[in-house]
Amino acid sequence: MRSLVLEAPEQLAWHDVPEPQRQHEREAIVRPLAVATCGLDQPMIYGLTPFAMPIQLGHECVAEVVDGPETFQPGDKVVVPFQISCGACPRCQRGQTGNCASVPALSMYGFGPLGGDWGGMLSDLALVPYADAMLVPLPDGVDPTAVASVADNVPDGWRAVAPALAQRPGADVLVVGGLIGPIPLYAVDAALALGATSVTYVDTDPGRLAVAETLGATVIDGQPDRSIGMWPVTVDGTGTPEGLVATLRATEWGGRCTSLGQLAETGALPLFELYTRGVELHIGRAMVRPSIPAILDLVAAGRMRPQLVTSATAGWDDAPYALLEPTTKLVLHR
Ligand SMILES: [Zn+2]
Ligand SMILES: [Zn+2]
Repeated sequence: MRSLVLEAPEQLAWHDVPEPQRQHEREAIVRPLAVATCGLDQPMIYGLTPFAMPIQLGHECVAEVVDGPETFQPGDKVVVPFQISCGACPRCQRGQTGNCASVPALSMYGFGPLGGDWGGMLSDLALVPYADAMLVPLPDGVDPTAVASVADNVPDGWRAVAPALAQRPGADVLVVGGLIGPIPLYAVDAALALGATSVTYVDTDPGRLAVAETLGATVIDGQPDRSIGMWPVTVDGTGTPEGLVATLRATEWGGRCTSLGQLAETGALPLFELYTRGVELHIGRAMVRPSIPAILDLVAAGRMRPQLVTSATAGWDDAPYALLEPTTKLVLHR
């Protein structure tokens, strides 16, 4: 079967690889239908991440079931979470599905050696090891191309605001965009769906600012400096240590800040200020599987609109060229 491989920076090619085989009753073979680029795919393609190559690319995916456990019929459309999780170990039971104890650490599709030997979703077929625990059926009427990112980036935006809004119903939310690309925009969408009174989005990128405004945010074209005020719930999507500090300083006394991601090894934090003001800081990868059903329900009801974040679409065969064009969110579909 064909699988798209990132051989070296900006070198993408279809490779012929062995088809996965179903060997256990919990496993499923799926056929990817729509695959979206994550905020990390293009940095990987341009060689800007430390991840080793070659990489079978693609980890945000809606697929159809080809062969799987009895609870699925061939042809069922499903979201395939990018993190491999068994659903049964103590960590999975606590919702820590990105830290599943049944598989090696960081097990995920589409990250090459870093994520393990699970292949990429830009392939004709893929193996899902714990299909009964991982796969989430698409509600009727939901377009696969609209929700490919529900496998990763949409839950990543959701987790940046859902726990904080559960503790502070109706709170005003600040989202700071930047290198993390599309994920802060999904945080805007999730915050409004989860009842935030207002969402303010700060960025310098005109395209992302326009999307945030369409999603319902009040937008500020600029940097999150002290002049913008303070919010009880904040999201740092800048991807830089300086941006994290600026977002922390825009977090109210007793507020909660979630940092969506960092590739920086180290950075200085205003520790005494955080201590005196009692600011909660959460740093870590998203645990995507638990929130997927709630997100799909909100999409089916028209209350979340992840399709508005999609900036480009392309046909499957055009993937090697389309992936080289800079975009916020590309969806490849069959
Ligand atoms: Zn990702
Ligand atoms: Zn597990």
